[in-house]
Amino acid sequence: MGTRRIRHDCEEMRSEGGDGAKGLRLYDTLTREVREVSPSDGKRVRFYCCGPTVYGPAHIGNFRTFVIQDLFRRVVEALGIKTRHVRNITDVDDKTIRGSMEEGVTLAEFTARWREKFHADCEKLNLLRPHVEPGAVEHIPEQIALIERLIEKGHAYQASDGSVYFRITSFVGYGKLSRLAERELQAGAARQSESAVEFRDEYERESVADFALWKARRPEDGPNFWVSPWGEGRPGWHIECSAMAGKYLGSGFDVHGGGMDLIFPHHENEIAQSEAATCECFARHWFHVAHLMVEGRKMSKSLGNLYTVEDIERCGFTAEELRYVLLSGQYRQPLNFTWDSLVAARSALQRLAEFRDLLPAVGEGGGKGSGGRLEFGEFSPVFEALLDDLNTPAALGALFRIVRELMKGGMSEERAERVRVGFENLLWTFGFRLPSVGGVGVDEPPAEVVEIARERWEAKKRKDWTAADGLRRRLAELGWAVRDGPEGYTLLRQPAGGGGKKMNLQGE
Ligand code: AMP
Ligand code: ZN
Repeated sequence: MGTRRIRHDCEEMRSEGGDGAKGLRLYDTLTREVREVSPSDGKRVRFYCCGPTVYGPAHIGNFRTFVIQDLFRRVVEALGIKTRHVRNITDVDDKTIRGSMEEGVTLAEFTARWREKFHADCEKLNLLRPHVEPGAVEHIPEQIALIERLIEKGHAYQASDGSVYFRITSFVGYGKLSRLAERELQAGAARQSESAVEFRDEYERESVADFALWKARRPEDGPNFWVSPWGEGRPGWHIECSAMAGKYLGSGFDVHGGGMDLIFPHHENEIAQSEAATCECFARHWFHVAHLMVEGRKMSKSLGNLYTVEDIERCGFTAEELRYVLLSGQYRQPLNFTWDSLVAARSALQRLAEFRDLLPAVGEGGGKGSGGRLEFGEFSPVFEALLDDLNTPAALGALFRIVRELMKGGMSEERAERVRVGFENLLWTFGFRLPSVGGVGVDEPPAEVVEIARERWEAKKRKDWTAADGLRRRLAELGWAVRDGPEGYTLLRQPAGGGGKKMNLQGE
């Protein structure tokens, strides 16, 4: 199959933009460089985020990605640059179809319910609403048109099963984002080792095989099929993002984002479909967020350590505290979620609330008003850390250092006024909504629980294991777990599905 040159390749487009003022520098997965983000049309930063699949509640891992993307948008807007933010809703795939059929409701009813739940969680987490939030089902004609174009150009074909596949050998750039060629080489060299066997399995499952653009109708899809030039069926997963990003952002838009698990094959396939169809650069910058882990392990349904916003609230914490936790780690590193980190977030937000109370007449909602570049005054080092590849740990470190110094030194009225503006602008940029001072207290275990835990510790010290085990079971019945350390024990409130919220109750 012949290859076509991309008319406006991303390389060319990358050298444009950037007016010299200090802007946001962000790691780009494609070039593996930290590069400045700028609006290539001179007007707004156009960015696309792969949104949720709406078949159940989003988990807090998904929200790590969405919260970091929200921070990205806020930082760009704080620079005085407008944005156009598109985030899709995946409302047709195997999981949504299966879910709706199991419940005996239509796909539309089923996904509408989970979309609403997603929006409610987004609101709690103070995520700015995307400017456009297109759903896959509403955009079947656009997806069909894109597939037709790919067939015309020889990049796709209908197979004997009726489905349409993308022919990856027809696209010369296939694998450029995930460095497929390098990974293939490494896999070849290490073929004897066990890890290579694992790698190869995954590779065979998802990679070099051509991928589906249109899936022919199957009995298990029930009433969920659409008419196309290739017969009845439904779109494959990847094509929706190419169709919707193209429609709402055009070619060569500025930033494309998602969790790291999407780099391959999803984003690789999006690039292939879009660039093969348009002969133009798809996205100029690729922004990927590392995964959220739970208590040191991968968050997954089978381990029972998958949490939702509701689980967090059920354990007495707030979505604001969760947002703080999700922002506390640098986005390119995996973040380990612990219940302790929520306790720490609570006291951090309390400290900020106390500081705000010292400042004159603070209005709710932050200082973002005019749409120009925000002023941070004495808090400029905090914003500068954010401009440096969204370095949130450094930014939060600087924030608390400055707050401490200001609280120690005292302020004149005039200075306090300036500090207030910078502080409010920073709260808006982080998307923090502060509690009232002395607001929510840490949920105390009831006296009965504390007493049983103390008896158990005594039993353990006496090496009376039977009694200690019995008391541990009693605690579990009351919804508490106990974890022992060298110096004492910690009580953890057990949410539904395992894990727990930590209480710092030292034994002796
Ligand atoms: P999904 O609903 O599975 O399509 O995922 C929505 C978004 O969440 C995608 O950008 C995923 O890459 C991202 N995501 C999934 N799991 C995690 C995780 N554990 N940590 C961070 N992001 C995740
Ligand atoms: Zn996508």
